[in-house]
Amino acid sequence: MTVKQNSIADRLQTLRSALPESTTLVAVSKYHSIEEIQEAYDAGQRHFGENHAQELARKAQALPADIKWHFIGHLQTNKVKLIMPYVHLIHAVDSWHLLQEVNKQAARLDRTVDVLLQLHVAEEETKFGLSPTAFTELLTNEAWRELTSVHIRGVMAMATHTDNETQIAREFDEVRRIFDETHATFFKGNDTFCLRSYGMSDDYSIALQHGSNIVRIGTAIFGPRDYKNK
Ligand SMILES: *Cc1c(COP(=O)(O)O)cnc(C)c1O
Repeated sequence: MTVKQNSIADRLQTLRSALPESTTLVAVSKYHSIEEIQEAYDAGQRHFGENHAQELARKAQALPADIKWHFIGHLQTNKVKLIMPYVHLIHAVDSWHLLQEVNKQAARLDRTVDVLLQLHVAEEETKFGLSPTAFTELLTNEAWRELTSVHIRGVMAMATHTDNETQIAREFDEVRRIFDETHATFFKGNDTFCLRSYGMSDDYSIALQHGSNIVRIGTAIFGPRDYKNK
């Protein structure tokens, strides 16, 4: 039996006081209940993050309409449709194919949607995220400029899951460097390309010191996830 030390509201308040005012705090609510999200909402939280399309759609329908829903996980092209009526920002676009599908589904609903491109900088092997080379290739092929219903607002990344803070800092610095270069090269004079989404419960303070302006925090707000819940 663990005793709940602090309420969701307490933890949110502690976190907010540690974040610069210009930082967006995305409360990662995946695997947490409608009631827990409502509790965070009642404490003033408006940005929430989910990583399953059905779950985001279900929760968006059940919860207040002014919530800003962030899709933070790997998005399959056949799931884009499901989240399009609700999503505020798609964090992890990692292919030209997905970018096109997001554009198409946004156009169908007569909306535009903001997205981030996911950079893979961690040392772990994963098929998700663009390598720095693939990232530059995607942008160099200027076809993305023709996609008028999708708006590339910045980058998203995850650091290696490690206790080595020097390594985490180095990876976040690389993201920052690529962001700056990309801004200067492909988004010159366009300050809507301004979002840098990195930092989670265990590494958000390092992320903030290395240029993040969106942190995605779950465990430090809601406690551990029960993966049987969905
Ligand atoms: C689950 C998740 C988070 C939040 O992780 P915590 O360690 O619980 O803060 C952040 N980003 C992504 C992409 C996630 O999948």
